[in-house]
Formats: sequence, C-alpha cells, structure tokens
Amino acid sequence: MHSASIDLLFYTNSGLVYIDPPHGGIDGGCVSINGDPEKNINLAILLNLRDMLQMSGYTVLTTRDTDRSIHDDGIEGIANQKSSDMDNRLALFNSVQDAICLSIHQNQFTDARYSGAQMFYSDTNSQNAALAQTLQNQFVAFLQPENQREIKLCGKELFLCYYSKNPTVMAECGFLSNPEEAALLITPEYQQKVAFTLYSALIQYCAENS
Ligand SMILES: [Zn+2]
Repeated sequence: MHSASIDLLFYTNSGLVYIDPPHGGIDGGCVSINGDPEKNINLAILLNLRDMLQMSGYTVLTTRDTDRSIHDDGIEGIANQKSSDMDNRLALFNSVQDAICLSIHQNQFTDARYSGAQMFYSDTNSQNAALAQTLQNQFVAFLQPENQREIKLCGKELFLCYYSKNPTVMAECGFLSNPEEAALLITPEYQQKVAFTLYSALIQYCAENS
C-alpha cells in the first residue's frame, strides 16, 4: 500500500499533536438540551481522534483521556479546582515545542436555533488563524455544507489559546442547545465523523505547513 495520498499523511512539520478535552470529573461543562454533559462528548471525540492520528504515525499527547479534572491534589473548592485545572492544561500545552494544540469543546446558546461548528483562536501565535480556517473549512467540506460560520478571533478570555505558545485552536464542534445537533453529538457514529473531520484538517494543515 503506497500512494501519494498515503505519503502525505506522514509529511508533517513535527508530527506532534496535543489534544485537550475540556472539563471532566466534577466539571461537566455545559449540559445539552437533552441532559447530556459536554465532558463526555469532548472525551469521546478525543479518543477517536487520537486513534486516527496514531494510526497515521503522529505522536499524540492528551491533557486527559479519562473522566477527570486535572487540578492539583489537595485543592479545595470547585472554583479553585477549575482554576488549577486550567493552569495545568496550559502548562501541558506549553511543556512541548512545535506541537499542534487542539481543545475540543461543544457550544451552547440561549437560542436553540443555532447549530454548526465554529473555530476560535487567538492572534498570539501567527499560525493560529490558518489552522482555525483549515479546521473550519473541513467541517463545511465533510460534515456541514450549510455552515457559514466564520472563525472567531478571541482575547484573554480564551485562556488556553491566548497563552499557549504553540499553534492552538479551540474547536466548538456543535451546539448542545440545538436539539438535533445535541442528539447527533452523543452518538458514536457522529462522534467518529467529527473526529475524522478534525483529523483530516490536522493532517492537511501539517502537510501544507511543514
Ligand atoms: Zn466547554
């Protein structure tokens, strides 16, 4: 099995991807209109994405791969644990060089009409906008042809993206406040499709920027 497309998979800038499924443990993240916590969806997509990247020869690191918060031991109180958890995720992103970093979230809004993936980034790394655009384009190409969302520039409120030293994007994969999208996002089939969308965008970005 040897073809140009297969070669492409191994043609990466560093071959290192750091993926983060936010929330976990006591922090469920947002809750879908059907009552499902975001943390489980983020983790399921991450586990699929990790498998796909590893099978393509990438080295994959994760901030968590089980249902837990990664705050320091001995920290009391949910707010303090959340703060420690965020600090530790950032420290992990910044513990490596030349990694592509991706945080996998689900969105929510007060109006149930809204759906579709949207990528968020900070301008603190010159590669972030292009990485976000590649991911956004892939959602349109593979999964959501109707999606007209634009990548969104954020500031310090996007803690991980703003302070990460590596190319970093926060992928909001869908809206848990939209009944149809929320129902899709809890199915293993759709979680695999979202993971494949992220995967193919990442390998395309690495191929084009190595
Ligand atoms: Zn979230």
